[in-house]
Amino acid sequence: MSIDTNSDEARMILDMVRDLARTRIQPRAAEIDEKGEFPWDMKQLLAEQGILGLPFAEEYGGSGASELTILQVIEEIAKSCATTALMLCVQQLGSLPIELAGTPEQKKRYFPGLASGEWLAAYGLTEPGSGSDAGAMTTRAEKRGNEYVLNGMKHFITNAGLAHVNVIFAKTDMEAPGTRGVSAFVVEGDRPGFRLGHIEHKMGIRGSQTGELIMEDCVIPAENLLGREGDGFKIAMATLDRTRPGVGAQALGIAQGALDFAVQYSKTRKQFGKPIAENQGIQFMLADMEAGVEASRQLIYNVGRMIDSGSKNFGRQSAIAKLFTSDMAIQVTSDAIQILGGYGYMREFPVERMMRDAKICQIYEGTNQIQRVVIARDLLK
Ligand SMILES: Cc1cc2nc3c(=O)[nH]c(=O)nc-3n(C[C@H](O)[C@H](O)[C@H](O)COP(=O)(O)OP(=O)(O)OC[C@H]3O[C@@H](n4cnc5c(N)ncnc54)[C@H](O)[C@@H]3O)c2cc1C
Repeated sequence: MSIDTNSDEARMILDMVRDLARTRIQPRAAEIDEKGEFPWDMKQLLAEQGILGLPFAEEYGGSGASELTILQVIEEIAKSCATTALMLCVQQLGSLPIELAGTPEQKKRYFPGLASGEWLAAYGLTEPGSGSDAGAMTTRAEKRGNEYVLNGMKHFITNAGLAHVNVIFAKTDMEAPGTRGVSAFVVEGDRPGFRLGHIEHKMGIRGSQTGELIMEDCVIPAENLLGREGDGFKIAMATLDRTRPGVGAQALGIAQGALDFAVQYSKTRKQFGKPIAENQGIQFMLADMEAGVEASRQLIYNVGRMIDSGSKNFGRQSAIAKLFTSDMAIQVTSDAIQILGGYGYMREFPVERMMRDAKICQIYEGTNQIQRVVIARDLLK
């Protein structure tokens, strides 16, 4: 059974998340950003409250929430803390390849630990020489009897070194043209030959751990293959089609958080003897920010509803939602800083963090140039 978007249960989840965001998450956000360390207390909170279990079916201990509810929860958390919202995004990103291509046994093996929040997930596609051109990866998986031996390196991986369930894309056929030789595997975090490399220092989402995953003669059982050999690229792309709205929801939440702050600030900050909100120049900025946020919300919720209705053709809408919303979030957070003036530029206020956090939404899960490639390809096919 899954939770219907319009049900009392979905509304209760959102009310609960709104309350948690205000009372527990928002007070930690600045400190998480300042320290740049993974916030285990936030992970614990999301696990205890069942938030990390939202994408998983009840039979695995999750709640089987609708996609729309998951997007709304990401949005709600991102209003306060983009790093904490990303935890739910990546729990879905790292588990969807198993959802889409895994056997019932594989789901039984991995989903209960992920649904309870005991385990984190990671999605390992990007390499130093293969970002937008994911098919150019060089990580190899060689079949030896009933095992695969993995060698290579992934970088810029969210939850690197923290996740137990790592979905790794690797070439099983180096001769196959283009993307056809790519396969998908689950590599458990404690496999010998699998280790964390360099950890990145980042501009935003600073509490999220982004790093290298190194595989040196890492042996995994053949049963860790997802789908068939050669299915990997299709699985990787189908996953991103599904999860890009989550990046959009993260951007939407960040933008809404910045707009809310700017509205309040403009009503209390006085210059020339009156609140700055009384200037039409400020009012028009706020109105444009609201228009962008609301338009984005409709795009994100629409694609969530498409996914929930079982539609198979949501890839273009998913790319549009991520592209439009992340560009909007950069504009809105920048305008929020402008409305706060010099104070907006200071760490003391949250809007400069929100702008730094928003930037990543234009880059990961396919840059916004790649979203345009996806949209144009679909338009012209
Ligand atoms: C904080 C962070 C977390 C991340 N988390 C993950 C993760 O969990 N898992 C994972 O696998 N990856 C992850 N990534 C990687 C991310 O998805 C890539 O950085 C992104 O896809 C871009 O690849 P690249 O950085 O190599 O840039 P490049 O591909 O080198 O692109 C450089 C520039 O060229 C442009 N460009 C490239 N090709 C084209 C084209 N055909 N047309 C027009 N412009 C083009 C790009 O848009 C970009 O502006 C993460 C990245 C960051 C920064």
